[in-house]
Amino acid sequence: MRKKIVAGNWKMNLNKSEADNLYNNLESKSFPEGVEVVIAPASIYLDSFSIASKVSISSQDVSANDNGAFTGEFSAEMLSSLNLRFAIVGHSERRTFHKETDLLIFQKVEMLLKHGITPIFCCGESLSDRESKNHYNVVKSQLSQILSNLFPEDFSKIVIAYEPVWAIGTGLTADPQDAQDMHSFIRGLVSEAFGSSISSLTSILYGGSCKPSNAKELFSMKDIDGGLIGGASLEPESFEAIINSF
Ligand code: PGA
Repeated sequence: MRKKIVAGNWKMNLNKSEADNLYNNLESKSFPEGVEVVIAPASIYLDSFSIASKVSISSQDVSANDNGAFTGEFSAEMLSSLNLRFAIVGHSERRTFHKETDLLIFQKVEMLLKHGITPIFCCGESLSDRESKNHYNVVKSQLSQILSNLFPEDFSKIVIAYEPVWAIGTGLTADPQDAQDMHSFIRGLVSEAFGSSISSLTSILYGGSCKPSNAKELFSMKDIDGGLIGGASLEPESFEAIINSF
């Protein structure tokens, strides 16, 4: 059985006491069995949450370099020394605002795997890609580095998050059937590259304006194994309701 995951991406939000409150509230809740709950706070807070017990902690990014003169960056080894389980890579905001390429994102994935951290690998098309019916090609090409260049045992540690860019933070959500079609397409690509036993165990999350009103329908789809939640993860009741949508 593949893992069900609900991950909250806090992005660049919350001061420390707000972050503590949100975290403490979440740690006091109980979650449905078999659902792993993850939060990705801003990197400067990661150390203070490394004692988390019920929720798992994720970084929102990592450097593609081992160590050295890279001012402002932090390495996979540093994340591993905090016992972090996850790191998000390839989020569309980093692809857009920081001009991250597929190659750079692949290098980050390799660093994380080397240090025993699970990458949450984001992919997803823009609105113009979807309107021009090019969305499957775009997602396939975003995945091509990890599908072509990783050993199967390394790939099997990755979580994929499909996040159509036009749905992120916009209030527009992918139609559950359209999302399912893309998830099934991604699982098919994984199967072609690594075989059906790895593809059937790969968790593929949906992200993009996921909220309590649509989470149940999205999570009921055959190939949707949870969500990467932005805005709604900052509202305790909404995030809890999304977690309980399984
Ligand atoms: P959103 O963000 O839920 O606010 O659309 C999702 C994400 O960027 O991971």
